[in-house]
Amino acid sequence: MGKNDIQELIEQTLQIRDCAYAPYSDYPVGALAVTEDGKYFSGCNVENVSYPAGSCAERNAIAAAIAAGNKNFAFIIIAGDLKHPTYPCGICRQVMAEFQIPYVIIVKENKQYEKIALEELLPHSFTAALVKNIRSYK
Ligand SMILES: [Zn+2]
Repeated sequence: MGKNDIQELIEQTLQIRDCAYAPYSDYPVGALAVTEDGKYFSGCNVENVSYPAGSCAERNAIAAAIAAGNKNFAFIIIAGDLKHPTYPCGICRQVMAEFQIPYVIIVKENKQYEKIALEELLPHSFTAALVKNIRSYK
């Protein structure tokens, strides 16, 4: 994927961020999950007055892809605060590990971005393969 394509997707992610429902944190986040076959799925954070009922942009984007029948992800773009880049929370990292999303793109100021491997975000992650190995002992 070329640099211009990435910039277009980043632009799209920033627009998704504008849709965030974040009246409590005032911390809007947009995410774009990109599948291996080049489809895009949007997610933004959706907060709730009962705080734990809220959900993150990343997980909402992944859920949208899953609901449309897509489980093979190329990467996910995350746009929150650009001055202090938004890295995914622990729960989202675990969900990314579930679907083996190879890397994330964190949007920064001035059209800059950072590409980080999931392996770096969540080393030694708890995976389905691990559970299958445990089951094989029985
Ligand atoms: Zn999260």
